Amino acid sequence: MKVFKFGGASVNSVERIKNIATIINKYSGENLFIIVSAMGKTTNALEKVAENFFAGNHQKALEFFDDLKNEHITIAENLLQVQLVFCKEQLSHFFTEIEWLLHDKPVRNFDYYYDQIVSVGELLSTTIISCYLNEINISNTWFDVRDIIRTDNNFRDAIVDWQITEEKFNKISFKKIGITQGFIGATDENESTTLGREGSDFSAAIFANLLNAESITIWKDVDGVMNADPKQFKDVELISELSFEEVIEMAYYGAQVIHPKTIKPLQNKKIPLLVKSFLNPELAGTKIHDKIIKQLPPIIIIKENQILMHLHSKDFSFVGEKPMSFLYTLFEEIKIKPNLIQTGAISVQICIDNKENKIEELAIRASSIFDVELRKNLTLTTIRNYSAESINKLMRDKTILLEQKTTTTFQALCF
Ligand code: ASP
Ligand code: MG
Repeated sequence: MKVFKFGGASVNSVERIKNIATIINKYSGENLFIIVSAMGKTTNALEKVAENFFAGNHQKALEFFDDLKNEHITIAENLLQVQLVFCKEQLSHFFTEIEWLLHDKPVRNFDYYYDQIVSVGELLSTTIISCYLNEINISNTWFDVRDIIRTDNNFRDAIVDWQITEEKFNKISFKKIGITQGFIGATDENESTTLGREGSDFSAAIFANLLNAESITIWKDVDGVMNADPKQFKDVELISELSFEEVIEMAYYGAQVIHPKTIKPLQNKKIPLLVKSFLNPELAGTKIHDKIIKQLPPIIIIKENQILMHLHSKDFSFVGEKPMSFLYTLFEEIKIKPNLIQTGAISVQICIDNKENKIEELAIRASSIFDVELRKNLTLTTIRNYSAESINKLMRDKTILLEQKTTTTFQALCF
């Protein structure tokens, strides 16, 4: 059994959906379990629906939702003939569920409504794709993943209950091809939940784990994992092989290759992950597996919009265990993850993502024992497996405010 994950960009048009069918056809000898994201930018559009609904702009919310409805219906009409009536019927169930909700007044918190609304994107995309595959004789079974993936009710970042999920998954059956939604799950009260933005990779990894799959393939619009973001750098190179560990490190430092939660369920069962291009499926792509890979090129990760918080001990007393433990308690309470931290005799420097509310709360609370200074609009550059040459090249025209080096990783906060 192989697991495939198709992201939003791979299914954002009639042509692209036809293209993934071509890919699936190339694997006609295999049993496949296929996880699909919402089409294109649907999730962003649904976020707008949720925001307007919660702000009391019901009309706006319904209008935005109407646009999405029409887009999906048009795609279905362009893809389907025999299956069209059935498909539209299925879609209309999901439309009605949302419209019914949008006519109500919000009485629960935003995150709850967010999940009820945003989760529909994957239900719509998989419905259309499943019908299309059936129409062209790639027979498959569609599953509502909310009947399988059980989560807690921590809406927008729900935690998976693996035991119940496994029990439920063991009860389903399909012949050669199963297809279901990424990114979503449900509570024990049948409320929809989401696993965090870009969470479909993680969903696919959950199924690969439960199926003891021989491999999982994430189909993307790039040739594989690159040593830097091609949108930021010209001369990037494809990395043909990576270890699970390296990918976890890359995700930790902010590389947006794969959702950070994806690796663990695969590593536990040593299931190799392939990152391949849906535009050039014949290319080998990148293989991520349980193997130490030597001689990697420098891997560059850029994080923009960073803040440097400079904390200076008020009474010139040393920054010892007490103030540090006070600081880490603040991080935990405010849910802040410092990207870089350096302590001196009477000061601490912290590099953090610029999340305004959190920064403000941290600054106010830290000011009980520190003088606080902030510096905004900085860039954090991380180079894994750095070389002197790669550091020189990247730092050439930068001013470094803070720098750290281990044997494997170079980091610099610059403007
Ligand atoms: N559709 C969701 C998102 O855009 C999940 C995913 O794409 O993985 O965040
Ligand atoms: Mg996506």
